[in-house]
Parts: sequence; C-alpha cells; structure tokens
Amino acid sequence: MKTVSIVVPCFNESEVIDTTIAELISVTNGIDNYQFELIFVNDGSSDDTESKLLAHSQQHDNVRTISFSRNFGHQQAVSAGLDVSTGDAVVLIDADLQDPPKLIADMIVKWEEGFDVVYGTRASREGESKFKLASAKWFYRTLNYLSEVPIPLDTGDFRLMDRQVVDHLVAMPEKSRFIRGMVSWIGFNQTSINYERSARFAGESKYPLTKMLKFGIDGILSFSVKPLKLSIMMGFACSGFAMLMLLYSVYVRLMTDHWESGWTSLLVSILFMGGVQLISIGILGEYVARIYNESKDRPLYIIKKSRELDAAKADETVK
Ligand code: UDP
Ligand code: MG
Repeated sequence: MKTVSIVVPCFNESEVIDTTIAELISVTNGIDNYQFELIFVNDGSSDDTESKLLAHSQQHDNVRTISFSRNFGHQQAVSAGLDVSTGDAVVLIDADLQDPPKLIADMIVKWEEGFDVVYGTRASREGESKFKLASAKWFYRTLNYLSEVPIPLDTGDFRLMDRQVVDHLVAMPEKSRFIRGMVSWIGFNQTSINYERSARFAGESKYPLTKMLKFGIDGILSFSVKPLKLSIMMGFACSGFAMLMLLYSVYVRLMTDHWESGWTSLLVSILFMGGVQLISIGILGEYVARIYNESKDRPLYIIKKSRELDAAKADETVK
C-alpha cells in the first residue's frame, strides 16, 4: 500500500489545531487504499500547541510531532517536515484550514494520473484584508516577471509532491528557502487544481507585515538576479540624463545670455543620484548578505528532544 505523508507547520495554532487534526484524520480515513502519516512541525510556539500535538501523537499511531527549539519560520518548518517524511508522496498544508483537506483526495487522483507535483491555485480568497489581497496579487506577478523560472501565480505551498521531487527538494542545500519557487525550479510533471481559499478557521495570521516582506524579498532575490541588472540600467539611464543636462547647460551658457543661477536643478540631480546610488548599493547588499548567510552554513532549524514523548514511548515498551 502506498503511503502519503501530510506535513503541517504550526506556529501558535492552539485555537485551531484540534479541529485541524480531527478534520485531517476524518478526510484521510475516507480515502481508501492509502496509508497516511501526519507530521506536525511545531515551529517554536509559545502557546500550548506543542502539548496538544504531543497528546495527539500519543493517541494516534500515524501522527508525529517535531518541535523546534525556537521559531525558525514557516519555510523552515515545512523543510523539517519534508526531511523526516517517509511517504511515496508528501502533501503540504497549513494548520489553519485555509487550504481544504478535502482536496487531498483530488490531488492523489492527479498524482496517480502521472503528475509529480499537484499544487492548489487560489481561485478566490475569503476573509483576507484588501491590503493582503492586493499585495499578494502584485507580489506573484512581479516575482513571475523577475524570476528566471516561471513560478505559478496565486499559488502557495498547498501541494502534493511525489517522492522523487521531495528527495530533490530535500537535497537542495540553500538556506533562504522559498519552497514554492524551488519546486518550480525542480521541474517534472506539474499541474494545478483551482480552489476557493477560505478564511482562517480561528486565530490570527502568523504572517505579520515584517515576515511577509522578508518572505517576499527572499522569493525575489533567490530566484532572480534581475534587480542587480536593474540597478545597472538605472545607472545608465541616470548618466545618460546627466549627459543631456550637461550639453543643455553648455548650450545655454554659450549661446544665450540668460542662464539661471540653477541651484534647484543641482539639488534635484544630487538628491536623485544619491537615491539611485543608495538603492543600488542596497540591492547589492541584499545579495551579499545572502552569500554571507549561505557561507555560514548553519543548520536550517534545530529540533529539541521531547521529554514527554520519550517518556510516553518508554511507558509503551514497559507495557
Ligand atoms: N507558520 C509557521 N511559522 C511561522 C509562521 C507561520 O510554521 O513563523 C505556519 C502557520 O502555523 C500556518 C502556516 O505557517 O500553518 C501559514 O501561516 P498563516 O496561516 O498565519 O499565514 P497566512 O495564511 O495568513 O498567509
Ligand atoms: Mg493562513
């Protein structure tokens, strides 16, 4: 029998986690002929997500919990789940029921048809702020324009991946992980399923603006060097413009007898050039910072040992 692993990253999801587990178990029980392994990655939650997860792991044989030593971030949590998964296919799904678990059955059907990656594309999104909708729409389009590999629009991490794709993903050593892009880069046979993304079942988004920005910048810089080229283009455009201004100034000075004292244009061009230079250095700096991070070669995440789970296991062996 084939096994499908389901990886669920959880950060302070105490309000939703019981319902999510119940829903995932009922959905997977309804799918015949497959074994399911549920892997919950507790990304350093400060609420009681961890103890709830551990209780479920003890109750159900096929539920596993991994806990990080602190909050490492969504993409790291997903990576940890992939690292330990054993299934012939792996499904990534959020803990807040925004991605409907029912779709897993449809994804498996597509997988059996021969697709290696089946990702969910959001046809609509309920219960998100206007700002989130607009920024997401804008982000996916910019990313796609800049990226050297086409990355599907309006697509999150909710997806099923065949074992061979997962193995390649796990073997990719980079530290700034933008998983949806990395999967596109890996290739193979990919297809999408449209779905309506519902509102969060309970609790608040764990992606405040700062995390969202970091995630977005990671996505763009990990998949494109076009921002560097853009700063060269800006440099050329500015120098070109400066040349024209120079010619014009010489012309005015020599051929006419009414030249301006001209500090406005001077100030504007100094400020403009200063701005362009700072932006370009900033872009360069972002890439250098990434090289620095990669070269430190630290692990992506740190898993802490679970005393509770170990104790429970010891109990079982005693029995
Ligand atoms: N998440 C995580 N670590 C983080 C932030 C989020 O593991 O630092 C998990 C979170 O528990 C959820 C998923 O990532 O399962 C997506 O987060 P969320 O639903 O808050 O993001 P949104 O849907 O608002 O973009
Ligand atoms: Mg969510």
